[in-house]
Amino acid sequence: MSALPDLDHIRLSDRPLVVCDVDDVVLQFLAPFEAYLAAEGARLLPRSFRLHGNIISLTSNEALEDQRVSDLLETFFEAQERWQTPFAQAVETLHAVERQADVVFLTAMPPRFAAQRRRLLDALHLTFPMVATETPKGPVVHAIHQTRPLPIAFIDDMAHNLHSVGEHVEDCLLIHMMPDSEIHRHAPKPGEHVARALDWPHAGTLLARHFTP
Ligand SMILES: [Mg+2]
Repeated sequence: MSALPDLDHIRLSDRPLVVCDVDDVVLQFLAPFEAYLAAEGARLLPRSFRLHGNIISLTSNEALEDQRVSDLLETFFEAQERWQTPFAQAVETLHAVERQADVVFLTAMPPRFAAQRRRLLDALHLTFPMVATETPKGPVVHAIHQTRPLPIAFIDDMAHNLHSVGEHVEDCLLIHMMPDSEIHRHAPKPGEHVARALDWPHAGTLLARHFTP
């Protein structure tokens, strides 16, 4: 079992809790990553739901080596402040949600880029606590919420994260939200127990309904 990340900085009030993914939920990931690839002489060919094997050199038209793709992801995360922007209504909706609930960001990103992500979120006035980890999300959300008798919701674009939280946290409203892109059409679909939000205003409505007694 993987060790849990440090959660000591998270202080919750006696209110409902929203745990929210960042990449491709709050901040655009795919679109700016494609722009970054173009600047690096490559492009994504969305043949399946993975980056490795699907990034093509603009000069040779060959798929880049896996190590080169991993390196590009790392340099993108390092430079994220120059590339990533929020989705429409994400910032406004999270500020509205904050009036009713605590918000915690749970971002599946190498923790060594946490400082860049923190600065980027802070610059957008999204100062909620953040956990950056590559460990499964279910045990982390369970450790944050524990057994508090308060409503909880989790938002993510990846089915496996939503399923992981559903398995570890009882009575959690699971909300799936993802960009409308070609590669996301290849993504595994979440189960029937997961709600689908079409955009941030819709997510805000689902959250308010879940949190209102
Ligand atoms: Mg994501």
